[in-house]
Amino acid sequence: MLRERVASNIYVFTSELYAQVTAGVIITSAGAIMIDTLAFPSETKQIIQFVEERHNVPIRYVINTHYHADHTYGTFLFEQARVASHALCRELLDTRGRQALELSRRNSREMAPIKLRLPEIVFSVGHFDLHLGGVTLKMWHAPGHSPDMIVCLVEEEDILFAADSMMPLPFFSDGDINDFIRTLESLRDQSFNNVVQGHGEVILRGEVQAKIDEDLHYLHTLQARVEEIVRRGDDPDALSAIGIEQCGKSRIPLNGLVQQLHQTNAESLYWSLRKRDT
Ligand SMILES: [Zn+2]
Repeated sequence: MLRERVASNIYVFTSELYAQVTAGVIITSAGAIMIDTLAFPSETKQIIQFVEERHNVPIRYVINTHYHADHTYGTFLFEQARVASHALCRELLDTRGRQALELSRRNSREMAPIKLRLPEIVFSVGHFDLHLGGVTLKMWHAPGHSPDMIVCLVEEEDILFAADSMMPLPFFSDGDINDFIRTLESLRDQSFNNVVQGHGEVILRGEVQAKIDEDLHYLHTLQARVEEIVRRGDDPDALSAIGIEQCGKSRIPLNGLVQQLHQTNAESLYWSLRKRDT
């Protein structure tokens, strides 16, 4: 696990075990706030140890940015903390998340001890502010990657935890491409000091707009290409002609995992357009 300090009181932790997934910690005089957890309990435990030993404060709140396993599987380790999320996240954790966890627990010894923990504080409209020890964390709904996604802004530092609304390649097979475009457009003209992605590197101030423009270009290009294939009545094999690089993205990030994400994006869009047309 890698640790990076992005402000005097804010840390980002990046997994070395699973897809460079990230988690954040905000230290305040009244305790710490954890934004997401890492996929493997062993890595989340290292974060807890760091916060308790180095800063000697309890972790008071855990935010689940969305229900996906790689961001929520560590939540059960925070028995003393309150867990907050969007209302849809709680609902999806309780249904799809519960089923997926059963499978993971059966298939992996590392995952066997994980228990489902549902958020007890949820919001569903507008934004939700958490005030703790002089820090304001502003959260709002940002669907696209998944229906329940939220982003979290540390107001005092202008640092945005974008979760999977920003990752090396926008990935929407569990969400909706048009929601994703709207979410990115709404983030595009705001100024952030740093953006912490749900996977991969922290994006620095001067790079945020270019990164969002590149993501929007990817989504628009992919959408146009898949629509053309569906319009021609081609079968899904034709999708292999849409290269990731033709859509303006590199095939290298996340150790090449992005290529698989790209393929899944193309397929899910193809089938949702086919369904719409019939
Ligand atoms: Zn996700």
